[in-house]
Amino acid sequence: MTTTHSAGQERYPAEAPASEALFDRARAIVPGGVNSPVRAFGAVGGTPRFMVRGAGPWLFDADGRRYVDLVCSWGPLILGHAHPEVVAAVQAAAADGTSFGTPTPGEVELATEIVDRTPVEQVRLVNSGTEATMSAIRLARGFTGRSKIVKFAGCYHGHVDALLAAAGSGVATLGLPDSPGVTGAAASETIVLPYNDVAAVEAAFAAEGEHIAAIITEAAAGNMGVVAPRDGFNQRLASIAHAYGALLVVDEVMTGFRVSRGGWAGADPVDADLYTFGKVMGGGLPAAAFGGRAEIMARLAPAGPVYQAGTLSGNPLACAAGLATLRLADDALYQRLDATAATVGKLASDALAAAGVPHRLSYAGSMFSIFFTDADVRDYDGARTQNVAAFRAFFHAMLAGGVYLPPSAFESWFVSTALDDAALEQFAWALPTAAAAAAAAAGNER
Ligand SMILES: *Cc1c(COP(=O)(O)O)cnc(C)c1O
Repeated sequence: MTTTHSAGQERYPAEAPASEALFDRARAIVPGGVNSPVRAFGAVGGTPRFMVRGAGPWLFDADGRRYVDLVCSWGPLILGHAHPEVVAAVQAAAADGTSFGTPTPGEVELATEIVDRTPVEQVRLVNSGTEATMSAIRLARGFTGRSKIVKFAGCYHGHVDALLAAAGSGVATLGLPDSPGVTGAAASETIVLPYNDVAAVEAAFAAEGEHIAAIITEAAAGNMGVVAPRDGFNQRLASIAHAYGALLVVDEVMTGFRVSRGGWAGADPVDADLYTFGKVMGGGLPAAAFGGRAEIMARLAPAGPVYQAGTLSGNPLACAAGLATLRLADDALYQRLDATAATVGKLASDALAAAGVPHRLSYAGSMFSIFFTDADVRDYDGARTQNVAAFRAFFHAMLAGGVYLPPSAFESWFVSTALDDAALEQFAWALPTAAAAAAAAAGNER
């Protein structure tokens, strides 16, 4: 039932009958038809594609169309889809039982791998990045006995109540600065500051430093599009927090094990107190973690009084997929990812430049995004200068050309080591038409 589509072939029509039928069914029984908002194509319009299969660099949808995948499940799939070693590890684990609700050897192995690669001394496994940041915040508050949290506009840390203020991508494209259902009390404990702005952090601490439990920051911002921290920004956050007895929580859910063996901190070390991980460490299954200094982690139940738990935490299948992935993720793999990201970014940027579309190519390691603006993007306000109509036109033309980009201008693009010459050729083939479409839309917008 799958058709192949190679460079030079006809472009796909805008209609996608099988996905449309599934979306109709889904919308009747699932809010918005999706289980995570950005999947609904709200920011780009049109029908979300229902995917039925992934293989290496390719995704296949319900209409039998094939796409080069530059989302990679929003980051986890550094090896591409259905990598044989990951599939074999999950199959072997499943054959031995899917969950025990007891300690298992696999979770010790995965924790060891994380501790070996990162500054954390102890780590607790959870099921999602949201759980990881939620638990890290609770622990930071429990450890310091303080209530306030500093976060940065445009940084997303999962849908934790206190962290849903000015939270980037999904929230941004929905136009919700905050979410109904988050109480005033929860939001009032959160101080939202501009990203990359040390002076704003100093001022906030000067005003209420003794009430601040922690600063939480993305190790490199990837949820307002990709915005790397300025040189020394993360380190300044650590020194300001520590000067006031507060903690620094570095959220590596997206960057962790994607930008280097040790995550962002592996390349740009920072004296943080807690780190959160997710995405890549689960190898495409639900697994995440938070960890840090042993003295702080010792406050967690059952070693200490700060409660945190999970029926499926450290799940054997997720640990097997994560371990199989991390064991293949050596320095050579990260060099390949960097090179691939550089190639993909340059191809896209060159095509846009040739079509006269103003844009900025922005990297943080092998994560990158293209801002459809000619402004320097250092923070969320900069990211929002984008011409989203140009992105929308670009996105749909790429989709018709067999390339699946993140369906929002405020998301990182993700590459995998599975991106081979055939996939790159398809990508390069789709670009000129898409760049022309973006140029036309940018022109219309003015
Ligand atoms: C994806 C992400 C999260 C949330 O992880 P989920 O598994 O979706 O809950 C948290 N922080 C960052 C930086 C992320 O990119």
